[in-house]
Amino acid sequence: MQPTDDLNSWFEGKGFWSNESNSNWNNWGWQLRNRINKQSDLDGIISLSTNEIAGFATAQNRLSVGITPYFANLIDPNDFNCPIRRQVIPNIEESSVSPIERKDPVGEEHDMVVPGVVHRYPDRVLFLVTDRCAAYCRYCTRSRMVSNAQDYGFHPSLEEGLKYIKSNTSIRDVLLSGGDPLLLSDRKLSYLLGSLAEISHVEFVRIGSRIPVFLPQRITDGLLDALQSHHNIWMSIHVNHPNECTKELYNACHKLAKSGIPLGNQSVLLKGVNDNHKVMKSLIHRLLMMKVRPYYLYQCDLIEGSSHLRVDPMIGIKIIESLRGHTTGYAVPQFVIDAPEGGGKIPLNPNYLDRVEGNKLFLKNFEGKSFIYDTGTCDSPNMKDLKSVNLT
Ligand SMILES: *Cc1c(COP(=O)(O)O)cnc(C)c1O
Repeated sequence: MQPTDDLNSWFEGKGFWSNESNSNWNNWGWQLRNRINKQSDLDGIISLSTNEIAGFATAQNRLSVGITPYFANLIDPNDFNCPIRRQVIPNIEESSVSPIERKDPVGEEHDMVVPGVVHRYPDRVLFLVTDRCAAYCRYCTRSRMVSNAQDYGFHPSLEEGLKYIKSNTSIRDVLLSGGDPLLLSDRKLSYLLGSLAEISHVEFVRIGSRIPVFLPQRITDGLLDALQSHHNIWMSIHVNHPNECTKELYNACHKLAKSGIPLGNQSVLLKGVNDNHKVMKSLIHRLLMMKVRPYYLYQCDLIEGSSHLRVDPMIGIKIIESLRGHTTGYAVPQFVIDAPEGGGKIPLNPNYLDRVEGNKLFLKNFEGKSFIYDTGTCDSPNMKDLKSVNLT
C-alpha cells in the first residue's frame, strides 16, 4: 500500500535564503526582482553540470532563464537529475533541434484571429494577455514568443482581444494565458475580468497560471479580491512533480479555493520528471490534498530543443492505466496530445473495451479481469459499429 502522505513532510521556508527577512521573502515583487537569470546567480547555491553551464550561455537567444528564489529552493543542489532542475535550468541539449520539432508546435499562429486571441474551437478562445512569466519552463510551448528572447515582438492588445470576444456571440468560454496572466497588476487583471464579465455571452473564464507554483507569494488578499469580485472564474495551475507541492502552494491553493475559484491542474509528461507511475500517483494525491483536480496530462509538444524532455506517448497511456481504478477517480487526469498544425487536444486512453459481439460488450476492468455487459434490448441493435450510432 502507498503510505499516507504527511503534510508535515512538505517543503516550507526560505531554504538557501534563510538570511533574508520574512517581509522580503513573502513579497512577490522581491521574489521577481531576485530571480535567477544568469549562471553566476547560482554561485554558492547550486552546483551546475557542464551541460547546464553551456545551457546558460545559449538560453538568451531561445528562452530567457528566470527562476524565483522560492522555486530555486526546490532544486536538489547536488543532484544533476533533480526533476525540478530539469524544468527550469537551461541545458545545452536545448540547442539540438530535431527535424520533427517546430517553433509553433500546435499551430497557434494559424488560428490567431487578432494578436493574442487563438480561436480554434467553436465556443471558446485562448486569450494570451502577456508574454512574461514568473519563471520560465524550459519546454515552453510558446518559447517562440514568451520572454521575447527570439525577438518575436508579441504585443497583445487587450482592447482588440476584448472587442473580438464581444463581437463573437458563439464564444462562451475564455481561457486567459500567456505568459502568465497573474503577472498583471491587480488593477489590470480586475479591469480584464470585469470587461469579460460585462460580455453577456461569456459564461466561463479560466486563468491558466503557473504563478501559484513559481510564486505563491503573488496570491495576496488583493489578488483574491480581484478574482472574487467577478463571476465564475476558474483556474488551471501547472504542477509536474510532487516536490513542487510545498506548504506555501498548499496554502495558496486553499486560499484560492476558499475564494470560490475551482482549481484544476495541467501537467506535462516529462522525461526524468514525472514519467513514472509512482511519482505521478504521489503528485495527483498531493493535488487532491490541495483541492486541485488533475485535469490534463499533456504529451510534451514538439517544441524546438525539447527532445531530451520528451517521452514516448505509450508511457503516458500506461501511467493512466496504472492510476484508473487504482486510486480516486477525481485524481486521474485525461492524457492528451495537442496535435500539430492546430488539430487541438486529442485524448489518448487505455483500452477497456475488448470487443463487441452482438449485444454483448466484452470489457476489461482495472485489474485486467474480463466482464460482459449485455445491452439487452438497447436501442442500437448493431453495437458492433460505433460509426453507425447516431446521436439525435
Ligand atoms: C487548450 C485550448 C483550449 C481549451 O480547451 P479545453 O479542452 O476546453 O480545456 C481552447 N483553445 C485553445 C486554442 C487551446 O489550446
